Amino acid sequence: MQNVKIPVTIDPIRAAAKKLDYEGIISRADFSRFADMVDSIENDIEVRVSFYEDLSGLHVFEGTARTSVVMTCQRCLERMNISLEAKFRYSPDEKLLRQLELEDEFDCAELNSFGEVHLYDIIEDELILSLPLIAKHPEEECPAAGRIGTVGGDDMEQEGGNFPFRALGDLIKSKNN
Ligand SMILES: [Zn+2]
Repeated sequence: MQNVKIPVTIDPIRAAAKKLDYEGIISRADFSRFADMVDSIENDIEVRVSFYEDLSGLHVFEGTARTSVVMTCQRCLERMNISLEAKFRYSPDEKLLRQLELEDEFDCAELNSFGEVHLYDIIEDELILSLPLIAKHPEEECPAAGRIGTVGGDDMEQEGGNFPFRALGDLIKSKNN
């Protein structure tokens, strides 16, 4: 991948007219809000973003941001690696989005007084949104799966709840380890 500098802020209308594409890296050190949500960010953020104007005249920018993080599994409290890929699609044309009834398909990007969007803030928000609400190993990989009750106390899955004997067996096995 080319190591192009991703602009911190950019005029999305001018960039769309020029059909600009960026592919590059944002240092993880630039994303302190995101860093606060996880135990650690393992890689710098790989970003791809394209600016274009679609047939209806909508100015669009869309792309992906990829990295991996370490979070704490809320079932076994051990560290787990999570690969993240955030896809995003924005337009600054709020009125046109409403006219075309595309509000569900695009996020609306706010322009600052210079007519620019803060691309780093947007990408950081998207990465935060891509985090799991409750970090948990897949059941077959989690040392604590099958034990009765979970640390997070979630009622949605109730792993082991329907199989009391299997859960008991796992509990005995894990005690013997
Ligand atoms: Zn786990």
